[in-house]
Amino acid sequence: MSKKISIIFILCFVSILSYFFIKSKGEVVIVKPCVFCNPSVLQRQTFYEDDLVLALYTHKPIFPGHCLIVPKRCINRFEELTDQEIVQIKRVTEKVDQAVQRVFNTCSYLILQKNGVEVGQTEPHVHFHYIPREEGDSSSIVFMIRMLVLSLMGPISTEEMKDVVEKMRKEMSDDVCEDSCAI
Ligand SMILES: [Zn+2]
Repeated sequence: MSKKISIIFILCFVSILSYFFIKSKGEVVIVKPCVFCNPSVLQRQTFYEDDLVLALYTHKPIFPGHCLIVPKRCINRFEELTDQEIVQIKRVTEKVDQAVQRVFNTCSYLILQKNGVEVGQTEPHVHFHYIPREEGDSSSIVFMIRMLVLSLMGPISTEEMKDVVEKMRKEMSDDVCEDSCAI
């Protein structure tokens, strides 16, 4: 009887493991539904959409205004993007930057994009982090600390997400472009 239970337990454990992660040739294939293809995530976090690209507010911002720019096609790596998608991602990034400057009073930004588990890619859907900084911010140590601390903290509240998404939607739909930061 106990042998049967052990076998069932082992089978369940192996099934659960193989459902989430299948490791092959240094590449982790995540079988669970992709976050950027999950309708409830998109509905909650998306503030911009066109035929090729989406822009979302992240649920764990490293700094206020931290957004994600994502192609609609569920592809794993940068080199799989078409020229057309790259051009559109650039255009949307510029629009996001203008909107974030107005909403969060920022002036500089970092773009972060990972290809492969060895550099920390956790979602099998290529995406670009747009991480802004306010005028006068300069420390990369603060950036590293916030990155570490944030991975241990929970997501922002539903209310905060709703508020930011609303503000960003409005700014992205406005055609007025004005610099909020002296260059
Ligand atoms: Zn996807």
